Amino acid sequence: MANSSLMDKLVSLAKRRGFVFQSSEIYGGVGSVWDFGPLGVELKKNLKERWWRSMVYEREDIEGIDAAILMHAKVWEASGHIEGFTDPLVDCRQCKKRFRADDERLKGVPGEPDAQCPVCGSRGTLTAPRQFNLMFKTFMGPVEDAAAVVYLRPETAQGIYVNFLNVMQSSRQKIPFGIAQIGKAFRNEITPGNFIFRTREFEQMEMQFFVKPGEDERWFEDWKERRMQWMKDLGITPEKLRFHQHKPDELAHYAKTAFDIEYEFPFGWKEFEGIHNRTNYDLSRHQEYSGKKLEYLDPVTQERYVPYVVETSLGADRLALVVLADAYHEEEVEGEKRVVLRFQPAVAPIKAGIFPLVKKDGMPEMARQIAADLRARMPVFYDDGGSIGRRYRRQDEAGTPFGITVDGQSMDDGTVTVRDRDTLKQDRVAANQLASYLVERLDR
Ligand code: ATP
Repeated sequence: MANSSLMDKLVSLAKRRGFVFQSSEIYGGVGSVWDFGPLGVELKKNLKERWWRSMVYEREDIEGIDAAILMHAKVWEASGHIEGFTDPLVDCRQCKKRFRADDERLKGVPGEPDAQCPVCGSRGTLTAPRQFNLMFKTFMGPVEDAAAVVYLRPETAQGIYVNFLNVMQSSRQKIPFGIAQIGKAFRNEITPGNFIFRTREFEQMEMQFFVKPGEDERWFEDWKERRMQWMKDLGITPEKLRFHQHKPDELAHYAKTAFDIEYEFPFGWKEFEGIHNRTNYDLSRHQEYSGKKLEYLDPVTQERYVPYVVETSLGADRLALVVLADAYHEEEVEGEKRVVLRFQPAVAPIKAGIFPLVKKDGMPEMARQIAADLRARMPVFYDDGGSIGRRYRRQDEAGTPFGITVDGQSMDDGTVTVRDRDTLKQDRVAANQLASYLVERLDR
C-alpha cells in the first residue's frame, strides 16, 4: 500500500465512520483543528482512561489534577515559553506564504538570492528565518490592553508545577512522587498537518515525577522503559516503535536529557511521546518569579532542595492516530476485500454488534433484548439493515471486536453465535452467558 494513500484511506474512513471530522467543515474547515465524532470520542476516551488507570489508580505515588487552561501570564515568563517557545519561520515576499525554516520543501538558504519558494516558485523572495512564538494570546476581562494579556497554555505541565506544593501538602505525598494530568493544550503551529498528527488544539496526557537531585537519571530510565512497555501492552506493533534520543541542538530549553518514543507513521518515523529530564528548571524559575519557596524538606535527613522532574508527555490525539494507523488492515475474506480496524478490544469504541439474522420469526425482538441487557455493561450496536455479511463488514471498519448473531437455532435453544473480528471464528454461546463471555475477552 502506498504510504500517502494509506493516510488518505485513514482520513476517509475516519470521516465515513465517525471517528474524526474537520472542524467547522460546513464553512470550509479551519486549519488543523479536528473534531472527534461518535466513534472517535470513545476511542480517545478509552485511551485516556487506560493512561489514567496506569498512571494514577495503579500507583500510590502519583496523584491526578485538572488545572485550568488559563493561567497567570507570569507563568509563561517563568517557564521560558514567552522567550523560548518559538519556531524559526521564513516568509515568501511574493506569495505571502509562511514556512518553518526546517521545511524540507525549501530549496537553498532562505534569505539568499537563489533560495526558491516551494509554493510560487519565485527565487530570492524568501526572508531569512525569524522567530515566531507558538502561543495563542488572548485578553482577560473587559479591556484589551497589554496588562490583560493571557495565553492558552501550550503544555499542561505548568499547571502541575504551580500546584506542586498544594498537591504535596493536601495528599501528604513524599518525594519521590508524581502528578498526572490530562487536558487541552494549544500551539499556533505553522506547518501543521498530517491529519491529527500536528494540530493547533490538542490534548496532552502528562505526568511530572518529582525526585531528589542525583536520583533523576535512575528515574528517567525507569519511566522511559515503563512508557515503552505501556505502548507495547496497548498492542502497538513493536517493530514500529523505537526511541529517539534528542541531540544537544534538539533539546528543549528546559531539558537535560530527552527521549522520544517514535512510531513509524505512513509518513515516516515521528515522535508521539516525550520523556524529559526537566531538572529543577521549572520549579526554580517559578520560585524566582513568584517569590514563593518551592522546596522540599526531607523529613529524614532534614535536607532542603528543589526537586528534579522527570516528565512523560503524550498527545492523546496523536496516540489516537498511532492506534488507528496501526489497527488498519485490508484483507481478502471469501473473495471479498475487507477493511478492518484491529483495535485492542479494551480500547475499541463499540464492543459488540448485535444482529438478527433475518427480520422475522422473533429474531429482532431477541436481538434487541440482548442489546438492551448488554448496554448496561458496555457500548454495543444493534443493526438489522442489509445482509449479515454487510453488517459484519460495517463493524469490522469500526473495529468492533465481536459480532453477535441471533439465528433460527437461537429461537430453539437460547444460544447465539459470536464472531471474532480477527480470527473470524464463531462460537455458540448461551445468550444469558454473553456478558461474562465478552467481559472476559474485552480486557485484553
Ligand atoms: P513536535 O516536535 O512534534 O512538535 P514537540 O517535541 O514539540 O513535538 P512536546 O512539546 O514534547 O512535543 O509535546 C509532547 C507530546 O505532545 C508530543 O509527543 C505529541 O504527542 C503531543 N503534541 C505536541 N504538539 C502537538 C500538536 N501540535 N498536535 C498534536 N499533538 C501534539
